[in-house]
Amino acid sequence: MQESNQVTPLHSSNTAKRKLTRIAIQEDPDLRHKLIHALQTSLDLQALLEIFVKYLGQQVRIGGLSYRHAARGIHLNLGRDNLHHCDYRLITPRDNLGEIRFNRAKRFSEAELACIESLLGTLIYPLRNALQYKDALQAALFDPLTGAGNRVAMDTAVRREMQMSQRYEQPLTLMMIDLDHFKKINDCYGHALGDEVLHEVAQTIMLVARTTDMTFRYGGEEFSVLLSNTDMNGAIIIAERLRDAIEGLDIQQGDQHLTVTASIGLAQLQKDMSAKNLFEQADKALYHAKREGRNRVSTALDLQAAAQA
Ligand code: GH3
Ligand code: MG
Ligand code: MG
Repeated sequence: MQESNQVTPLHSSNTAKRKLTRIAIQEDPDLRHKLIHALQTSLDLQALLEIFVKYLGQQVRIGGLSYRHAARGIHLNLGRDNLHHCDYRLITPRDNLGEIRFNRAKRFSEAELACIESLLGTLIYPLRNALQYKDALQAALFDPLTGAGNRVAMDTAVRREMQMSQRYEQPLTLMMIDLDHFKKINDCYGHALGDEVLHEVAQTIMLVARTTDMTFRYGGEEFSVLLSNTDMNGAIIIAERLRDAIEGLDIQQGDQHLTVTASIGLAQLQKDMSAKNLFEQADKALYHAKREGRNRVSTALDLQAAAQA
């Protein structure tokens, strides 16, 4: 079966009705050939759009481009925004590939619009492949329930951040977060609402800690956050802010309101410390917080002080 891909013009600032058949700009077949070839060299979305604009720019002057895929939460901008624009929806029979907007200060002529539409056809499959690649990366590195990074992503990030910390002599602090009495939430409200709580908590952590790419689901109801260039004093402030935000969450089911608290353990990377040691220290601090009554922040130093007391 022949598949029909579509480059659907949404609207442009030029004209309401356009005849697409009248092409005054003679499309350079060599350019199309080179463009198709160049688009095969990358699976990165931004790189593909840059390649496309570079080649298209040889036929039609483009001021800027924006690409959106609302369902996937993607919004990329290249170049500047300008007064005049033309928008296209890109679809295959199976996939919605998002919307693309070209803009510039001067109106696009009909011939230029026809040229853009014609060349956009070359972008469809490379774009679909890039989106599928992004999905595969997402699935490989992120926990689907919470949107936080998974253990694979965490291991990579820990290695990278430890190297950076040692090379540039910058502090690095690890935060371990464990929800308090979470089993009771499952028992009282059901597993589905438990899942919802985990999602809400993860989103709160990522929002408050502002480290979207450094928040990980460590295990069932445990999260870890890597705080680069942050010493223990800075980490305590962030951890308290987080603990407070989690405590303040109001999760509703019917007319029932559910709240949750978290215990947090902190450990700062010391010279010659291994990743294993760092996690052990943060874990010990976390269990100190549990023992001290939960819904609190503890550090490896609190542990030492407790041991000496
Ligand atoms: P503590 O304050 O000592 O941490 O108590 P707790 O109940 O949170 O700890 P415990 O380790 O006894 O229980 C953790 C619970 O988390 C048990 C498990 O069913 C639940 N859990 C783990 N993963 C998931 C998940 O993906 N979804 C849901 N809904 N529950 C989960
Ligand atoms: Mg736990
Ligand atoms: Mg727990």
